[in-house]
Amino acid sequence: MIKKTLIDKLNHIFGVQNVYAEKEDLLVYGYDSTPGILGQPDVVVFPTSTEQVQQAVEIAREEQMPIVPRGSGTGLSGGSIAIEGGMVICLTRLNKIHEIDVENLTATCDAGVITIDLFNAAAAKGLFYPPDPGSQKISTLGGNIAENAGGLRGLKYGVTRDYVMGLRGILGDGKPFATGGKAVKDVAGYSLRDLLVGSEGTLGIITEVTLKLIPPPQDKRTILAYFTDIRIAAQAVSEIIAAKVIPATLEIMDQTTINCVEDYVGIGLPRDMAALLLIEVDGHPAVVAEEAEAVQMILRKVNAAEVHIAKNADEAEKLTAARRTALSALARLSPTTVLEDATVPRSRLADTFAEIERLKLKHQLRVGTFGHAGDGNLHPTCLADERDLEEMARVHSFFDELYDMVLSIGGTVSGEHGIGLAKKEYLQRQIGSGGVEVMKRVKDAFDPGAHMNPGKIFTNPTDTSKH
Ligand SMILES: Cc1cc2nc3c(=O)[nH]c(=O)nc-3n(C[C@H](O)[C@H](O)[C@H](O)COP(=O)(O)OP(=O)(O)OC[C@H]3O[C@@H](n4cnc5c(N)ncnc54)[C@H](O)[C@@H]3O)c2cc1C
Repeated sequence: MIKKTLIDKLNHIFGVQNVYAEKEDLLVYGYDSTPGILGQPDVVVFPTSTEQVQQAVEIAREEQMPIVPRGSGTGLSGGSIAIEGGMVICLTRLNKIHEIDVENLTATCDAGVITIDLFNAAAAKGLFYPPDPGSQKISTLGGNIAENAGGLRGLKYGVTRDYVMGLRGILGDGKPFATGGKAVKDVAGYSLRDLLVGSEGTLGIITEVTLKLIPPPQDKRTILAYFTDIRIAAQAVSEIIAAKVIPATLEIMDQTTINCVEDYVGIGLPRDMAALLLIEVDGHPAVVAEEAEAVQMILRKVNAAEVHIAKNADEAEKLTAARRTALSALARLSPTTVLEDATVPRSRLADTFAEIERLKLKHQLRVGTFGHAGDGNLHPTCLADERDLEEMARVHSFFDELYDMVLSIGGTVSGEHGIGLAKKEYLQRQIGSGGVEVMKRVKDAFDPGAHMNPGKIFTNPTDTSKH
């Protein structure tokens, strides 16, 4: 229970509206979008300036409270859950876009800016910020950087890391840091910026970001292909890549997901199809025409059941928007959706789908799979009920066996959602104790007092909790 004198002090510094200490508010900030994990912060503060972030860190240290940075809480691995209590520092009210610099093609923003707000601000100046996680209407840039978020355009345009040029923030000891900036080349010493990208709030709090912008594509074409067998869809993905066509978007949905999305948005997706691919090629109009033709030839060759080309930008947007609803649409079906982030070399997608099917039958589970097929990044999602412990044990076995297969073919346990609380055991399995040890030393160098986001990424040998 937090002391009244401390609440008074925080209210005085941040303003009452920016301090949450009531039980009901703390409950709301006790979880993120990861099922089955709940924490309880002692207090949540919403700084509105970098100086206030620094003050919050200093107070948390004086009070010996763990510090948990948080954006919008859309994380899917439990990264912003205060599992050991402490102070949640929520960045959503530090949210100004300071500059869109058209001469340097950069944007400088506070960490709490919502992803799509930057996209729109860049577009208004004729520029393009490509990273577009499915959560882009809610997630923050700070959260995207801390998780190195991917998105629907990842195949051609890369992930958040590819756009991070500079970062400013506060370390766990209250000292400010600054790394990188507007210079496009910078090899002065170790790349601290690259260590901070994907650090899941365990190394420091990012308060300001400088991001790369690019010219937008002049043209694009959106193609939807349906398949009677998901393995043929996977084969089409491999063949498109092998033909050296790199679409901006190459997304897959299985039959369960198609049906859930159709129930949700009702745009006429065929319910009887085993899978669909959403393909978007973009760039110079001549290249777009050539690539769209090449893609259609491959789809014909592999015997796609049906191929549909979006008639106009409105229809294309409707199809992409429908894909973005996949997780929410699946989540309507059952009390608990356990979504994973298995990522494999693209040539092994068909094998991975076959394994998902085998394990689904073996463990008698309802599973919907969708994902960024062009990146080899699949989100098999178990539709379950966390109150049914026996079913949850089967879900656990399903993923346990799936990750054995994924790792055996050179894949990874997380393509974009991070390790957080949910994947600590899997990380150890993937990189071994030597790899974990080196990462812990990096953590120690940034955060020697272990104030930042304790309990995340690494399994503590004395930790007896399941997470
Ligand atoms: C419907 C849905 C669709 C999604 N689609 C995608 C997708 O396509 N691709 C993808 O990659 N992810 C996706 N996600 C996952 C999630 O949206 C991303 O991980 C996102 O980057 C999290 O941003 P956030 O602001 O919500 O961060 P939070 O969930 O609040 O935090 C995530 C992590 O970042 C840390 N953190 C947050 N802000 C800061 C900061 N300023 N400084 C330091 N650390 C910080 C937190 O401590 C935590 O460890 C999806 C989630 C949902 C619910």
